[in-house]
Amino acid sequence: MTSLPPRPKRFPLSLNQLGTPRAGASAAAAAAEAREPLKPQGHWQQAAAIKARQTPPSGLGLDSAGVRHGMVQRLRREGLGDERVLQALTSVRRHEFVDSALATQAYEDTSLPIGHGQTISKPSVVGRMMALMLAAPGAQQRGHLGKVLEIGTGCGYQAALLMQLSKQVVSIERLRPLHDKARANLVGQPHIRLIYGDGMLGHPPAAPYDSIIAAAGGDDIPQAWLDQLAPGGRLVAPMTAPSGRGQVLVLIDHVRDAAGSRFVRSLHEAVLFVPLKSGVM
Ligand code: SAH
Repeated sequence: MTSLPPRPKRFPLSLNQLGTPRAGASAAAAAAEAREPLKPQGHWQQAAAIKARQTPPSGLGLDSAGVRHGMVQRLRREGLGDERVLQALTSVRRHEFVDSALATQAYEDTSLPIGHGQTISKPSVVGRMMALMLAAPGAQQRGHLGKVLEIGTGCGYQAALLMQLSKQVVSIERLRPLHDKARANLVGQPHIRLIYGDGMLGHPPAAPYDSIIAAAGGDDIPQAWLDQLAPGGRLVAPMTAPSGRGQVLVLIDHVRDAAGSRFVRSLHEAVLFVPLKSGVM
């Protein structure tokens, strides 16, 4: 019977083993290891690296605030005067709502495709509609848009802007994939309620609304929207022009005074929005 050779002692290490290269490690590797500083912040660096990988490449890098500021300056020069709207446009990162391939165009004043045949509206038009709503007597008194109903959530960009100017936003989308996209884009915004449904019916459970804004245009304003507009409230929407060709912005105020309750309608500039359609898909 042969006895086994004694196994090398691994633990505890004797004092003369401390600080020496591991058995088998090359001298060069040992030297590199010795130069490597301790990194107590290593976990943070790793987390930041993972986050950076998750952020879709926008082509804008850290300069997106600068580019956004440039867009807002141009809108201001072109006549958009409401500082609260300009502030909202400055703070919401439009490039994060569009496909990363389009991100470099996100701060041009153009509408952009968001998939499923739909488009995100031009910042100047979105800004104009919000300024019109803020100019309503009710909104002026309140200092904000109150409770807002948006028809046509799309990618959620306008809902994010509206949230900057109000207390609560309810936004409806009829296309499931866009509703889901907006949900992902607006995660962590507790005061924006996203509804998958036909916005032509409004959303009665949360009515009445102080402000109603539509991002899609039909031949007329659905009765449900008027029924759900609070007294003192204002509605802004695109609608087929009286000529039957193209669209115009229509503004409706729900006026209630000694003479009773009525809707006062005014027509504004020509616009181009996707069609308002009924039903869901
Ligand atoms: N505000 C959106 C713009 C989206 S475009 C944004 O910032 O991205 C207009 C949207 O209205 C489209 O997504 C379209 O699907 C939606 N839409 C059209 N008719 C609708 C209806 N009846 N109910 C709800 N959404 C509707």
